[in-house]
Amino acid sequence: MIQVLIAEDDKLCRTILEKNLRKWGYEIISTKDGKEAWKVIQEKNIQIAILDWIMPKMDGVELCKKIRGQKWDGYIYLIMLTVRSKQIDIRKGFAAGVDDYITKPFDTHELKARLQTGKRIIGLQNQLLDSQKMLQEIATHDTLTNLLNRYEILNVLTDEFHRSLRENKPVSTVMLDIDFFKKINDSYGHDVGDEVLVEVASRLTGTLRRYDKVGRYGGDEFLAILPGCDLRNAKRIAERLRRAVCKDRIHTEAGQLYVTISVGCASSESQSHKSIEYLVKFSDKAMYHAKNMGRNCVIAS
Ligand code: GH3
Ligand code: MG
Repeated sequence: MIQVLIAEDDKLCRTILEKNLRKWGYEIISTKDGKEAWKVIQEKNIQIAILDWIMPKMDGVELCKKIRGQKWDGYIYLIMLTVRSKQIDIRKGFAAGVDDYITKPFDTHELKARLQTGKRIIGLQNQLLDSQKMLQEIATHDTLTNLLNRYEILNVLTDEFHRSLRENKPVSTVMLDIDFFKKINDSYGHDVGDEVLVEVASRLTGTLRRYDKVGRYGGDEFLAILPGCDLRNAKRIAERLRRAVCKDRIHTEAGQLYVTISVGCASSESQSHKSIEYLVKFSDKAMYHAKNMGRNCVIAS
């Protein structure tokens, strides 16, 4: 249901608005002055606001400017409803950011029709926001595992790396790669391989702390970012991740499969790893070292 804010100091006018809007199916929040209205707008998800111009504490134009001066989650459709009917006032109202301007005394049928326009604009705006959200999700996530994709996990690393410099705390990276994954694809098919990737991803996320992040770095390769973690702790977490993957067999349509990962970690506490590129490079190198050591193990760089 669309939430409409009414900001009107005149009791009679407010009552008429409330009664009609309720009848037309809107959810209403009523306020008596500009300051109270501003408070409601900040706290609630208001989609349409009907503002009187002359009000105590803050007038409608000032309120309008304040609303337009800030970024909101969705669009707020503003209707000025006022006795001020001069051309110059109407221009002033639109300049302050109103979408519609109605003069008092107003015709209720006309208000109903004008609210329909507001509803249509809000609907279009919501569609736009939904598709923006969907595109954002597609651009930052891996469609198979729903983990962050390579692009986004590297963005996370960039942010965390800079934060670690600011706060003078370490950040660690953990590179993980499934052992003999090609064999799974070759023996049971690509779909079973996909099932394994999804389950490994789920075990990794389920094992990490809330503020750690993991992304799909490549085919069967994952990268975890551990903020505030030194190498000793990173190794401990990496070991936990390794165990979480191999502890129980993975149920697939081809039966239960035993899957292991090789893990490499690096930390910014080491002087030679003090850049994003080096962190990735050295955790990758450590992971390859783990492969050479016989796989299913953790190596710290
Ligand atoms: P190693 O132990 O040395 O890592 O051996 P491996 O067989 O796992 O070798 P590698 O890591 O190079 O193999 C990755 C394979 O992952 C190759 C590629 O065909 C497969 N792959 C990449 N993306 C996908 C995917 O989305 N689904 C499936 N099923 N397989 C994928
Ligand atoms: Mg592999």
